Amino acid sequence: MIEFQGVSYRYSSSEENVLKDINLKIAQGDWVALLGHNGSGKSTLAKLMNGILMPTKGQVFVNGVLLNEETVWEIRHEVGMVFQNPENQFVGTTVIDDVAFGLENMAIPREEMESRIDESLKVVGMTDYKLQEPYRLSGGQKQRIAIAGVLAMMPQVIIFDEATTMLDPSGRKELLETMKYVREKRDITFVSITHDLNEAVWADRVIVLEDGAIWFEGTPQTLLEKRESLQSTGLRPPFVAQLTDELRKNGITFEQQPLHHKDLV
Ligand code: ADP
Repeated sequence: MIEFQGVSYRYSSSEENVLKDINLKIAQGDWVALLGHNGSGKSTLAKLMNGILMPTKGQVFVNGVLLNEETVWEIRHEVGMVFQNPENQFVGTTVIDDVAFGLENMAIPREEMESRIDESLKVVGMTDYKLQEPYRLSGGQKQRIAIAGVLAMMPQVIIFDEATTMLDPSGRKELLETMKYVREKRDITFVSITHDLNEAVWADRVIVLEDGAIWFEGTPQTLLEKRESLQSTGLRPPFVAQLTDELRKNGITFEQQPLHHKDLV
């Protein structure tokens, strides 16, 4: 679904590559959590997945299509993004207008637009808020509307760029429940950049970036195993310790068989 082949990226103002020779494959329907310290390259990686940025070196494929100047618009329709601050995403005066915005730009016929909006609001559980003004909603509700706006465009992939970061604990929980539900209903690939370890636990796979390179890739379970083996090396970024502690709290320990997230319900 998404493939990076030897991808490096350097901002024009940066002295060296902020992403270094990244090779990765994300399969259709996978939920991948992207973790790493601030500045490790997570957002840059996400922006390369939908053509906001183009690789300095190497190639990005989405659904088998090589990302370049000609394919960038096609790829942007396939890869939706939900950002950190819901306020910045609103353009409509009502929830419906807001969800419709992306579709209007795609010149979708009105009837189909209406059914897509209804369907998307239903999946995120916001049907009753159709005519509300978005700014009156809670943080969690705003992010659910942002997800509906992306869903209405029927993407193959949704990238959540710290989408839960600005929310209070209850909003975060609400959004995570919505994300789980959306994934049950639609075969969409999720890439979530997160510091919320509760979110990472739900991913099928975790990718940890360290200084622009992939430091770890595997299940949350194998990250735990790596931590055990790394204790002797001292190579142990603090968040890995936090993640594995969180896994333990959720009942996933080194000794157990890998758990699928459904087993945690
Ligand atoms: P993360 O999302 O993990 O915090 P980023 O991808 O935002 O990391 O940043 C990776 C590196 O690229 C950092 O060193 C950051 O300072 C640098 N960077 C990010 N955006 C820009 C930019 N627009 N111009 C120059 N350097 C940037």
